[in-house]
Amino acid sequence: MTRQIIVGNWKMNGLSRDSQELVKAITSGLPANSADVVVCPPFTQLGLLTDMLKPTPVKLGAQDCHQEVSGAHTGDISAPMLADLGVSYVVLGHSERRQEHGELDETVREKAMAATKAGLTPIVCIGETEDQRETGEHFDALGWQIKGSLPDGFNGILAYEPIWAIGTGLAATTDQIAETMKFLREELVRQFGEAGKVIKILYGGSVNAGNAATILPIPEVAGALVGGASLKADAFLSIVSAAS
Ligand code: 13P
Repeated sequence: MTRQIIVGNWKMNGLSRDSQELVKAITSGLPANSADVVVCPPFTQLGLLTDMLKPTPVKLGAQDCHQEVSGAHTGDISAPMLADLGVSYVVLGHSERRQEHGELDETVREKAMAATKAGLTPIVCIGETEDQRETGEHFDALGWQIKGSLPDGFNGILAYEPIWAIGTGLAATTDQIAETMKFLREELVRQFGEAGKVIKILYGGSVNAGNAATILPIPEVAGALVGGASLKADAFLSIVSAAS
């Protein structure tokens, strides 16, 4: 069985000193033979952390990239720029970017293609709103997001993050996660054939030290995308320890 993967999405948090201390605590507390671990600090910390992480098994991820390689895109960062820094993963289409930056499925798909071309592993996020869950439209919404956001031949990671579970302290229930994972796998196989069988699916949304041991063993869950709890070394390491 492949190892699970625990990804810490720091979001817009972390000045130099905090970031270095957090990474030091994570790398020094990592259990032997642990799950794969990725930390995704803000862009500003990537350069600083790349050297610290080089001698460790922890990989570096970014939280976004532009779909073009270079050009007149003020304020943006391209996938080759991230690869050049030693970044291995990039989170794409997070619901906060979809909401705050109007990112559409189509843009996310282009970004995923750009990331793969640059040698990065894209972690593409999808998730339903609270309304969609309550009205029973969540599977439709997720199916469309997969169709729109994942390029043909996608060989990255899919992250299922129900929007209502992000930052609320209210993770989806075991039954909800199990049922949704089963649906996502079927949908991936329907859309990608054989290749859809091996795309890893992460769960994200209020994963913490207390619930990780319940969430991570759910069938099809290949790991977790962790927000708030990834900012505290103890909590993050407990989640890593709960992974197989
Ligand atoms: P929380 O773990 O803070 O709910 O955030 C989840 C998330 O958005 C990770 O990308």
